[in-house]
Amino acid sequence: MKSGFVSIFGRPNAGKSTLLNALMGEKLAIISPKVQTTRHRIRAFLNGEGYQAILSDTPGIIKPEYKLHEKMMRAVKSSLEDADLALLITDVRDKPELSHDVFQALRLKVPAVVLLNKCDKVKPEEAAKAEAFFRAQPYCKDLIRISAATQTEWKPLLDLILKYLPEGDAFFPDDEMTDLPTRFFCGEMVRERIYTLFEDEIPYQTTVVVTDFKEKTSLVKITAEIVVQRESQKAIILGEGGKMIRRLGTESRQAIEAFLGSKVFLELFVKVRPKWRDNELHLREYGYGA
Ligand code: GDP
Ligand code: MG
Repeated sequence: MKSGFVSIFGRPNAGKSTLLNALMGEKLAIISPKVQTTRHRIRAFLNGEGYQAILSDTPGIIKPEYKLHEKMMRAVKSSLEDADLALLITDVRDKPELSHDVFQALRLKVPAVVLLNKCDKVKPEEAAKAEAFFRAQPYCKDLIRISAATQTEWKPLLDLILKYLPEGDAFFPDDEMTDLPTRFFCGEMVRERIYTLFEDEIPYQTTVVVTDFKEKTSLVKITAEIVVQRESQKAIILGEGGKMIRRLGTESRQAIEAFLGSKVFLELFVKVRPKWRDNELHLREYGYGA
């Protein structure tokens, strides 16, 4: 039996969350074309014949500007501390030096596999240049070209992961997929819709807290609060005559229903909490850890 912790690191938008979902065959991490979508460390258990890989998706590595960012970078750090293997993912179209700086700054003490992602977007010759650059780096034990968004065959990457996974018993029961509660993922689905429906600073200044989660016989009843920083943002989330929040509610409910495989009744409230991103108490209340 092989089992261990596999952490995914990379710059914002490299495709970390897309990769986690692709490997799991399940949508656990939310994804958007906007940077800084992932705020938590998301752990997912990839269970197979004779192995358990505990995958960690992490927030993209950035320079903290708010306490929220510090918490996000702490999620990166904790994921670094228990890793047995690091997956260093980069957008193959980016300047390799940018990701290289991030990978080097991690000061990895464990083996790393470099993943050249979004290879569906470039010609093989272009990928070859990036490949040569990363293969020459001391932290790169192995390298593989992938397309997290379009690829369906994951055996080559899985084999690489297994190559570096330590021997040992499973850490978690093999019928579980994650250690985070279901309600967390439901809040994340609402947050993902906010990234797609709203522009500018709204997604970044908003968070979602599930305040009530009840499984009834025929449906799941969920109440969630959308927390914003200003009254003007609340007005945008609500929209004219409540138009936007209704749309947000409908789309979120559909996403949650697909995730839970059951009917959902979703109730949304909007709350104004000035500067919640810099308020230790609020951050804790909203699940951004210690
Ligand atoms: P993260 O910030 O590293 O977690 O990146 P995401 O997983 O949220 O992905 C960022 C954006 O890149 C999203 O719009 C994804 O759909 C897109 N993306 C991720 N992987 C690929 C890929 O292999 N090919 C293409 N074309 N787009 C991708
Ligand atoms: Mg992400």
